[in-house]
Amino acid sequence: MKAYDFGSAGTVRQALSHGGDGTSYLAGGTTLVDLMKLEVMTPAHVVDINSLPLRGIQCTPLGLRIGALERMADVAVHHEVAARWSMVSTALQLSASPQLRNMASIGGNLLQRTRCDYFRDVRMPCNKRKPGSGCPAVHGDNRMHAILGTSASCVATHASDLAVALVALDASIRLQDRHGERVVRLADFYRLPGDTPSVENQLRPGELITEVIVPACDWPQTYVKVRDRSSYEFALASAAVAVDVHGGVVRDARVAVGGVGTRPWRLQAVEKALRGKPATEDSYLEAAKLAVVGAQPLAGNGFKVPLVQRTIARALAGAR
Ligand SMILES: Cc1cc2nc3c(=O)[nH]c(=O)nc-3n(C[C@H](O)[C@H](O)[C@H](O)COP(=O)(O)OP(=O)(O)OC[C@H]3O[C@@H](n4cnc5c(N)ncnc54)[C@H](O)[C@@H]3O)c2cc1C
Ligand code: SF4
Repeated sequence: MKAYDFGSAGTVRQALSHGGDGTSYLAGGTTLVDLMKLEVMTPAHVVDINSLPLRGIQCTPLGLRIGALERMADVAVHHEVAARWSMVSTALQLSASPQLRNMASIGGNLLQRTRCDYFRDVRMPCNKRKPGSGCPAVHGDNRMHAILGTSASCVATHASDLAVALVALDASIRLQDRHGERVVRLADFYRLPGDTPSVENQLRPGELITEVIVPACDWPQTYVKVRDRSSYEFALASAAVAVDVHGGVVRDARVAVGGVGTRPWRLQAVEKALRGKPATEDSYLEAAKLAVVGAQPLAGNGFKVPLVQRTIARALAGAR
């Protein structure tokens, strides 16, 4: 691990005064410390933000607000979150392991880096880690990689399960830097890799995520995650869905998928195709076909094309 300065901040203002290029904030540390040990991330300064007043889970008739430093485990078991935003609760429960969820924060989860093995191995080229060095995953081991939103420069998936649920729910994040605050839709926050995969999102140097804002959604919903083993594993494909059914007919739906896209992937074409259709497995599967229009499977991950369609249909049928 490279040497770095370490400090802690007691207020948001103090944290922001330290923030900037070369500084990383430390929340749970479950991603940052790993990547520092591997020398994938080499901040010159690390600022512990755990004393900042960025906690709290507030449920109102209008929606849900979660402080960025809330722990994944606490949000997952919060009774009102589980009752009214069950896709959030389930996505968190199916993430990582109990130990990790106890340490890891909501803000850190949304800013975790890809699990692409080449990205994490500094002996290998990787455009995301070292711009212009190449992407060995395009012709290499790409079983876990993306089929949607890829470019010739990067085919890595976005890893967060929570982000998929939040994108389906039209959630936003509140961001704060030295110049003030702004609120950004999570769907707009993450960038496609294009030819600059190292620029992953809209976060400015030194900017903090302070809170997540989730609108109310009273429709039955769920999160389904397919993975190689039943715990402690990232998604091969996942689907966050909410579906409004009346008299056996779909009035409206929200659908986002994970494990297959370079960012959490909202599927408005699938949502549109579901409206007015019977709430049956056949019509769910028919609509789910639109999920893979434009997909670009690689040599090792063609199985994700049928898998993601079936995952969506299964989630729609199981939403409660
Ligand atoms: C073995 C393993 C399995 C995992 N499995 C899953 C899984 O299945 N699904 C899943 O979704 N995740 C999974 N994860 C990822 C895990 O959820 C993340 O490591 C965790 O959520 C990161 O949170 P943290 O608070 O520890 O972040 P940290 O490691 O503290 O920070 C991560 C990044 O976010 C920045 N940061 C943190 N908080 C803020 C903030 N408020 N404002 C601005 N910047 C901030 C940090 O500077 C750093 O760059 C897994 C991790 C491991 C190690
Ligand atoms: S897929 Fe992206 S993260 Fe992985 S090696 Fe290629 S450029 Fe790097």
